Amino acid sequence: MKALITGGAGFIGSHLADKLLSQGDEVYVIDDLSTGRLENVAHLRQNSRFHLAVESILNETVMDRLVSECDVIYHLAAAVGVELIVKSPVETIQRNILGTDVVLRLAARYLRRVLITSTSEIYGKSEAVPFREEDDRVLGPTTKGRWSYSDSKAIDEFLALAFYKEKNLQTIIVRLFNTVGPRQTGRYGMVIPRFVEQALKSQPLTVYGDGRQIRCFTYVEDVVQAIAKLMKTDAAVGEVFNIGNDQGISIEELAQKIISFTESSSVIERIPYDQAYEQGFEDMKIRVPDLGKAKQAISYRPRFQLDDILKRVIEHFRENEAV
Ligand code: UDP
Repeated sequence: MKALITGGAGFIGSHLADKLLSQGDEVYVIDDLSTGRLENVAHLRQNSRFHLAVESILNETVMDRLVSECDVIYHLAAAVGVELIVKSPVETIQRNILGTDVVLRLAARYLRRVLITSTSEIYGKSEAVPFREEDDRVLGPTTKGRWSYSDSKAIDEFLALAFYKEKNLQTIIVRLFNTVGPRQTGRYGMVIPRFVEQALKSQPLTVYGDGRQIRCFTYVEDVVQAIAKLMKTDAAVGEVFNIGNDQGISIEELAQKIISFTESSSVIERIPYDQAYEQGFEDMKIRVPDLGKAKQAISYRPRFQLDDILKRVIEHFRENEAV
């Protein structure tokens, strides 16, 4: 199988490249290195089944060639992280919507199966527990920038489903919940790499808001295994799936755990949301996926739990990142 991964030099994309190469696929990556890093795929550069194009997915000439040469497309290229979204809203909206439009139009030209990675941000500030794929979305006003991410990804989903219904394009949508693991950086706001880096540098751990917000963290290997499996599942075509872990923890408890696991002398510093992001920023109080649909389709069950995940991330930071 020849697979194209958009955003394949990113955190999740590079792990997906590892996974697909290990199952014998030939892997083509396109990444503009806006948030992806060459270091993430440096270990693959000598592999004759790995091919890299440093280019934007908005370059239709390059994308046309790649899509025509590949059998399947994993579309991961997107603006990443809430912090980036608040800082660069124009880029976020355009990158997400225009990029997915290119991918779907070209996939339809060559009739290639496409898996679109979406996000748990789709559910917005709904307090339903757990989130089911068919649940209503609850969003704030357009004057609050953070909701643009949710809506830009929702347009991607609408478009993918529309191509499926109207153009017979085989599309699969995966909503990823908080994903963590080696190669994820704290640069774009993600909480676990930030806390680990702060703890290892004996700096205060920056807990936003009251720290009672709950998240469930999934190890990246569970995520890429699920993505690869869904791609091979005919019954997944035209469907939307949550992929995540359903064991939650509050951000305050997470900070305490990381201090304890790193034996750090760091303290916890509370930072109001207005200061951390922007005036009037609203956070999700709790975000837990319902995994029933993924379980039924591909027998999905996350294998890695938080303590193990944290130990692996801490080890990665100690060995690879300059802390
Ligand atoms: N967060 C925090 N301190 C940080 C970074 C993030 O308290 O330095 C919080 C953030 O406000 C959110 C949670 O940790 O409630 C998870 O944030 P992340 O950006 O990793 O993912 P999100 O759930 O926002 O997509």
